[in-house]
Amino acid sequence: MILSQDQEMVRDAVRDFAQAELWPNAAKWDKEHHFPKDAHKGLAALGAYGICVPEEQGGAGLDYLTLALVLEEIAAGDGGTSTVISVTNCPVNAILMKFGNAAQKKKWLEPLAQGQMLGAFCLTEPHVGSDASSLRTTAVLEGDGFTAGPPQGETRPLGGQGGHVSAERGGDHYVINGVKQFITSGKNGDVAIVIAVTDKGAGKKGMSAFLVPTSAPGYVVARIEDKLGQHSSDTAQINFDNCRIPAENLIGKEGEGYGIALGGLEGGRIGIAAQSVGMARSALEVAVAYAKDRQSFGTAIFNHQAVGFRLADCATQLEAARQLIWHAASLRDAGRPCLKEAAMAKLFASEMAEKVCSAAIQTLGGYGYVSDFPLERIYRDVRVCQIYEGTSDVQKIIIQRSLAG
Ligand SMILES: Cc1cc2nc3c(=O)[nH]c(=O)nc-3n(C[C@H](O)[C@H](O)[C@H](O)COP(=O)(O)OP(=O)(O)OC[C@H]3O[C@@H](n4cnc5c(N)ncnc54)[C@H](O)[C@@H]3O)c2cc1C
Repeated sequence: MILSQDQEMVRDAVRDFAQAELWPNAAKWDKEHHFPKDAHKGLAALGAYGICVPEEQGGAGLDYLTLALVLEEIAAGDGGTSTVISVTNCPVNAILMKFGNAAQKKKWLEPLAQGQMLGAFCLTEPHVGSDASSLRTTAVLEGDGFTAGPPQGETRPLGGQGGHVSAERGGDHYVINGVKQFITSGKNGDVAIVIAVTDKGAGKKGMSAFLVPTSAPGYVVARIEDKLGQHSSDTAQINFDNCRIPAENLIGKEGEGYGIALGGLEGGRIGIAAQSVGMARSALEVAVAYAKDRQSFGTAIFNHQAVGFRLADCATQLEAARQLIWHAASLRDAGRPCLKEAAMAKLFASEMAEKVCSAAIQTLGGYGYVSDFPLERIYRDVRVCQIYEGTSDVQKIIIQRSLAG
């Protein structure tokens, strides 16, 4: 696939920024668990917060392929930062673009796309991640004829006989109760899209999506996870403790939350795949440079065929992953289904990335294992790409289903 001049121009601008501002600082941010606010401002100024959001809504008005290019470049600079940008673009912006009403776009999408706000996405719960149909967090419509507040933590889902209740039928606010787990930007974010159960009896059709400002009373950051890598992004557990939000913050209709969440994840997976390629690319570049310099048995180790072939395999796998990503993104840009292709891209790219990072460490010998070189950090950062936005097993389930027809 050949990129357009515009796509190359955006990619190069973000590459220049990432190499100048992210890459040289990534090790420090990793050690200090630092969220780099200034770097985020710079990325926002480049339009990275709203790549696919139309210009009239404050975004860059570009396509998903460009988003993939941008995320590869940011990830090549710093993995944690790429995750934060990835979540804001997709699922958060993508959901608002598709399902948000005009008022929600004005109030939330515009500032998100311009980088004045940071988005979070709350799907996973302590007891459930892959099986998103088993959520326990509830949202109850109250006010205007409905009794206030679920007493002693008891919730009163509306439409409990399987019917769907809309805010128009009564109630002026929702009260959310429950716990969300592993939420990227749960602490640093300004607004979260929260998937919660509004009708316990309706299974997947009983879930709804809400916009919840992180400043809302009852939005409580319960803990920050101590992670293996990606220390420049926060991952939080959020308690929703009688968290009250206006009824107008419902996205779409009640009962549409499961589909909204899954639709958002489809594009998100292309982003995670692109992040994987970015991190693996950096690891490979470090390994190639080192191999050309390091001498053993009278020559650069690059010239030993075992080392050169290992690097050649890495370069080939990396390019194959990139092409899968570009293919999936192009399908999405053309408005064609890409569930299977996005799953394939994420599966292949995230697994490739761990192998490439491991091979890069091997190429540096002992120096690959210590923090004087960036490879041990990238290896830690990239590992989660096989887990979040659907594990590798979940991607295989999607691909298997597509084979079943
Ligand atoms: C750093 C980080 C950031 C994250 N950010 C977010 C975020 O912003 N928002 C959010 O909502 N979530 C987020 N997550 C959560 C992430 O999406 C989940 O961890 C992931 O979906 C897996 O869910 P789980 O951890 O509950 O694992 P489980 O679902 O319990 O799975 C455990 C294991 O069982 C396997 N498994 C489960 N079911 C099947 C099956 N049917 N067939 C085969 N194997 C199966 C899985 O593949 C996995 O290996 C984040 C996680 C991390 C670590």
